[in-house]
Amino acid sequence: MSLKVIYRGHLTDCNYSCEYCPFAKEKNSREMQVLDKKDLDRFVAWVEHNSSADYPMEIFITPYGEALVRKWYQEAVIHLSHLPHVRKVAAQTNLAWNPQWLSRCNPQTTALWTTYHPDFVSEDKFVDKSNALSAMHIRHSVGVVGLKQHFPHITALRQRLPQDIYMWINAYKREADYYSEAEIAFLENIDQLFRLNLPWYESMGKACKAGDEVVSIEGNGDLFRCHFIKTRKGNIFTDPLASMLKKEACTKATCHCHIGYIHLDDMKSHEVYGSGLLERIPVSYLSNG
Ligand code: SF4
Ligand code: SF4
Repeated sequence: MSLKVIYRGHLTDCNYSCEYCPFAKEKNSREMQVLDKKDLDRFVAWVEHNSSADYPMEIFITPYGEALVRKWYQEAVIHLSHLPHVRKVAAQTNLAWNPQWLSRCNPQTTALWTTYHPDFVSEDKFVDKSNALSAMHIRHSVGVVGLKQHFPHITALRQRLPQDIYMWINAYKREADYYSEAEIAFLENIDQLFRLNLPWYESMGKACKAGDEVVSIEGNGDLFRCHFIKTRKGNIFTDPLASMLKKEACTKATCHCHIGYIHLDDMKSHEVYGSGLLERIPVSYLSNG
């Protein structure tokens, strides 16, 4: 078993400005970028010294914005991908960058969760990027936010992508009962797991792997069980890792974000995603890339 570490640094800006995005509304100052790089480098060194044969790690970068346009994140992914006791380094990204740097990564351990934002990039350009990743044997999922105005783009993208690329749809949840049953059926036809993404899961008191098998680490080294419960468990630079890991029931009423609820024990996500859990690739697609 490996420890899954979900990392979120100080970065809070993006080269896109999607109206449905809850973050990435700022432009980071030069000083903030310097701090973000310094802390990321420190985190990477911590992973290098704390992952081991007995304690392998999987790292998932989930920024409040687009990280992979920054050279320091590219270098971090390259470095982590070659560490002997890092089984996976994955990142969420809009793919709006030149993929050439990925040729320096270990394709066995590198994976991407990519999102298509039709308001900001043409279908041609996005498909070319996905094809470039496949040519470099970089495993990746492709997804879209399921806004109704995106439906024609969703259909078109699915037709353009090779069948062995999994396409996920994130349910738009800011409006209650946003979808009709027919719309759910349409989206489910694209993403067979779409229905799993629809609910706000009642998580209070339920067993969750976030806490002992999965942790969230912020740029300053503070460790939390997940991104959604802000009870600090300690700091990776001052506290022994084992002292901060604990199996606990969830203390939040609901969990609705994919990167959270998949860790609920009841979801049995390992059966659905296997080793593709972090980059969101179901077992049936895992030979892609
Ligand atoms: S690409 Fe992602 S991070 Fe950037 S604005 Fe859009 S949703 Fe937010
Ligand atoms: S169910 Fe969600 S909110 Fe609760 S501990 Fe797990 S990831 Fe965190």
